Amino acid sequence: MLVKILQSIQNLFAPKRCYRCGLYGDFLCQHCATDFDAFPSVCYRCKRPSQNFRIHPECWDGCSYDGVYIWSYYHFPLIQRLIKEGKYYGKKEIFSEVAGYMSCGVGRYIHEEKNIVVISVPMHPLRKLKRGYNHSHILAKHLSEILQIPYEEKCILRKKNSWQQSKLSRTERQINLQDTFKIKENKGDKLDNTTCILVDDVVSTGSTFEEISKLLKQSGARKVLCVAIASD
Ligand SMILES: [Zn+2]
Ligand SMILES: [Zn+2]
Repeated sequence: MLVKILQSIQNLFAPKRCYRCGLYGDFLCQHCATDFDAFPSVCYRCKRPSQNFRIHPECWDGCSYDGVYIWSYYHFPLIQRLIKEGKYYGKKEIFSEVAGYMSCGVGRYIHEEKNIVVISVPMHPLRKLKRGYNHSHILAKHLSEILQIPYEEKCILRKKNSWQQSKLSRTERQINLQDTFKIKENKGDKLDNTTCILVDDVVSTGSTFEEISKLLKQSGARKVLCVAIASD
C-alpha cells in the first residue's frame, strides 16, 4: 500500500512521456496513438463484422444496446498500461488524452444520430472517494466537449458497490450487477427520445452496458450506443 502511494506521488510529479516511444509531452504521443491496430467494426454480440459497430437485427434478442464502439484491444500491453495507470495511479489526464484520440472514431460512429446525450458508467461513491475520481466520467466529459454533445452527468446512480467484475463469468456478472444502477429521479425526462452514448473504459461480457442500457430504454431512450476504450 505504502509503495503504491509513493509510486503515485512520484508519478504525479514526473514529466509526461509517451509510454511507447518515450517522447516528452503526452502519455501517448500522436504518432504512437495511430500506430497500432484499431478494433474492427463488429457486432459485439456475435463478434462478426457489422456496419459501424452496430448490433445485427438477428442478434437483438435480449440485448438493450444498439452498438458498441471499441477503440483498441485490451491485450495490447500499451493499452493495458494506459488504462491501469490512469485508473489506479492518479494519472487521470490519460483519459482526456485518449478521449481526444477516440473522438474521430466516435464521431463517425454517431454521425447519423439526432438528439444525442453522453452518459458515463457511474462509480460507487465509496470507490470514488478512495480513488479520487471516476475515470469514465473524465473520458465521457472530454468526448462530449470535443464532439459538442450535451453530457448528462450524474444521470445514473450506482446503488451497490458490486464486486470487481473482472474475474467473474458472464452469468455471475449479471447476478452481481442486478439492482446495482438506478436512473436519478429528476433525470428520466431528459432521456426521452434520445440516443444515449454510454461511456466506459473496458468492455468484457457487456453486462454493465446491458444493465444500464435497459434502464435508459425504460426511461425513454430510443437508442443506446456504447463506447469503450478497449476490449478483447
Ligand atoms: Zn510515442
Ligand atoms: Zn451479431
